[in-house]
Amino acid sequence: MRLADATWTDVRDADVDVAFVPVGSTEQHGPHAPLGTDTLDAVAVAEAGAAAYEAAESAGDPDAGDDATAAGRVAVTPPIPVGVAEEHRAFDGTMWVSPETFRAYVREAAESLPGHGIDRVVFVNGHGGNVEALAEVARRFSRDDAHGGYAVAFTWFDAVGEHAGDMGHAGPLETALLRATNPDLVREDRIEEAREGAADRWGEWVSGVNLAHDSDAFTDNGVVGDPAAGDAERGEALLDLASDALAELAEAVVDRESA
Ligand SMILES: [Zn+2]
Repeated sequence: MRLADATWTDVRDADVDVAFVPVGSTEQHGPHAPLGTDTLDAVAVAEAGAAAYEAAESAGDPDAGDDATAAGRVAVTPPIPVGVAEEHRAFDGTMWVSPETFRAYVREAAESLPGHGIDRVVFVNGHGGNVEALAEVARRFSRDDAHGGYAVAFTWFDAVGEHAGDMGHAGPLETALLRATNPDLVREDRIEEAREGAADRWGEWVSGVNLAHDSDAFTDNGVVGDPAAGDAERGEALLDLASDALAELAEAVVDRESA
């Protein structure tokens, strides 16, 4: 169930197990991919993960009749579109908020849910810069005895098996997922340009420390990795891997006794 498309009576009457809160960013993704890439990818994974969870629940309920359906057991909330992305500030159109503002906003938004009986939350993240702050939001949400809720943070590109090492930025994985889910937004005529200005890896590393606080220090056009190495077929595989991992995680979050 897409929360923003449902009515309040739909939500009242639904049997929601868990909310998925997509968390993205509005930031440069090279000359070929849109500023909203992280948000679009997070929403795509959240919706596919909800479908996978509901399919598994429908199949696995022995008490349910032939037309058993677990539709509506996941509430996919509207996405959080601006995150912790100041590292891309040199590139036009990039937006960000401070980690403090982000943490407070995301936590308070999630805290609206337990009062409606939705006390399990999975943040479905699409942006590396949000990871640290989201982990803290999930812990704080879970430790709050006032509502008794429990939350965890999931980042889709950490849950794609052997593909994970190719992450980059606006590189093979993100471009592949866009090609599978939002192909019209990939500027295919700029892929060559994107490859030519791309860096091989994220950051400038010495003794395990990244010296570069901002991405323009190591990539001229914002790209890390080869966006040509991720076709739509690879994007479908990534979507399957990430959504299956998310469904499995959600089951564990729902079954878990408490924080
Ligand atoms: Zn991204």
